Amino acid sequence: MRQISHWINGTSVPSTTERWGDVFDPATGEVQAKVPFASLEEIELAVSSARRAASAWGQSSLSVRTEVMFGFRHLVNAQRDELAHIITSEHGKVHGDALGEISRGLENIEFACGLGTHLKGGFSTQVSSGVDVHSLRQPVGVVTGITPFNFPVMVPLWMTANALACGNAMILKPSEKDPSSALFLADLLRQSGLPDGVFTVLHGDGDTVGTLLEHPGIDAVSFVGSTPIAASIYSRATASGKRAQALGGAKNHMVVLGDADIDVAADAAVSAAYGSAGERCMAVSVIVAVGEIADPLVEAIASRLGALVIGPGDDPKSEMGPLITAQHRDKVASYVEGAAGEGAVVVVDGRATAFDGPSANGFFIGASLVDQVKPGMRVYDDEIFGPVLSVVRVDTYAEARDLVNANPYGNGVAIFTRDGGAARQFTAEVTCGMVGVNVPIPVPVATYSFGGWKDSLFGDAHMYGPAGIDFYTRTKVVTSRWPDPANSSVDLGFPKTR
Ligand code: NAD
Repeated sequence: MRQISHWINGTSVPSTTERWGDVFDPATGEVQAKVPFASLEEIELAVSSARRAASAWGQSSLSVRTEVMFGFRHLVNAQRDELAHIITSEHGKVHGDALGEISRGLENIEFACGLGTHLKGGFSTQVSSGVDVHSLRQPVGVVTGITPFNFPVMVPLWMTANALACGNAMILKPSEKDPSSALFLADLLRQSGLPDGVFTVLHGDGDTVGTLLEHPGIDAVSFVGSTPIAASIYSRATASGKRAQALGGAKNHMVVLGDADIDVAADAAVSAAYGSAGERCMAVSVIVAVGEIADPLVEAIASRLGALVIGPGDDPKSEMGPLITAQHRDKVASYVEGAAGEGAVVVVDGRATAFDGPSANGFFIGASLVDQVKPGMRVYDDEIFGPVLSVVRVDTYAEARDLVNANPYGNGVAIFTRDGGAARQFTAEVTCGMVGVNVPIPVPVATYSFGGWKDSLFGDAHMYGPAGIDFYTRTKVVTSRWPDPANSSVDLGFPKTR
């Protein structure tokens, strides 16, 4: 069985650990490789090599770092097809979707290529007589990134591009479920001229993360994953004195007002709910149908589901691939199973979809649509993270807004309407970090930053874009004066500016 290696000090390092996990091919259900859960010695090796590399990299010129970023951007773009195949083989998502995630990741490298501008400080002359002030940004040191399975390239790039551009060394602990694309990125960084040790890939599970969180050699922690783990990571990292940001799970609502175009809304709902088999933190999982649009909207969504082509991610005909594991597929199925007993109406039951031939043992499930859902039902309250779309019916805009705002999650939300005033009011009133107006998956472009509110984010630091530059740098303010020795004297008073 193929054994996956760590990437430490600029090279592939086979593991000697005793703890290993399985990496599946979700389309066939077979184990295709073993991933190591790093031993304590391997964690020490990774942190010490990153620490050694951090100081020289942090002092390297901005032009050297810019050149590495441009080289990296070029190589990821040139090899995106191969990278997408790696994503598909371990995650299961269809090839086009894997290419889409790479293109959104590339945006983050492109943003980081402008590091010369992002790292500029301020300068004020003559703030007092003969006194000038300037500010500068310095790297934090060694940062770690802990990432989820659902975007094995894009989310690592959310962190890595800015972390490295700002002069930090980065230890990435990718999801143990699809760990190989991180190694591919590591090799592209090496080819781009990144010095050894500046980027590390250390494989592991929750225990590995626990050791990193308490390690004195790590200065900052970036996490993306589920809400319970995000909450725990944030409190443990900050308790051990580290800068931390932890992005959690989601339950994203799409509000459809009575004046919306039904076909536009139905196309958007199906794309955003079932793309990547619903395994997106910005997937739409609840439609909030306002007033009489509910019946025709449910019908329009249901009518589209029969046409979805579900199959292996590397089959060009497939539009939706399998889920990540059999266990996750069964958990998703349990929500559909329980929905009717809770009083909801299962309009389309994805468990009834048959998968024959090569897909028979894969982790497939069809698309489900559940109507008449209400808060308090498991299908509404939990983040399902699969191809299950719920419909909640309300009578008014105010009820729709209050439903969204009462939800503990606050990642993304969308409103579909032709009424500009209502949309404007919604964007002002809704308590979510990312809002789409007739855009179902409003993931901000890399020149903005990504982050939810409420239980979708722990800490106050959003990720990538300008917030990423803030997170991966420490600012320093320098006050300077060049006094004339002839006028020097002792003055015990507090320094005054006037
Ligand atoms: P997860 O929380 O199970 O795992 C995320 C990472 O945490 C992995 O690297 C994993 O190894 C590690 N981990 C697991 N258990 C741990 C523990 N006990 N202690 C410390 N670390 C631990 O998440 P997942 O299943 O890989 O990904 C899906 C989740 O991620 C969903 O909830 C989804 O909404 C969320 N997500 C959020 C965003 C966002 O930007 N807010 C983006 C993508 C995914």
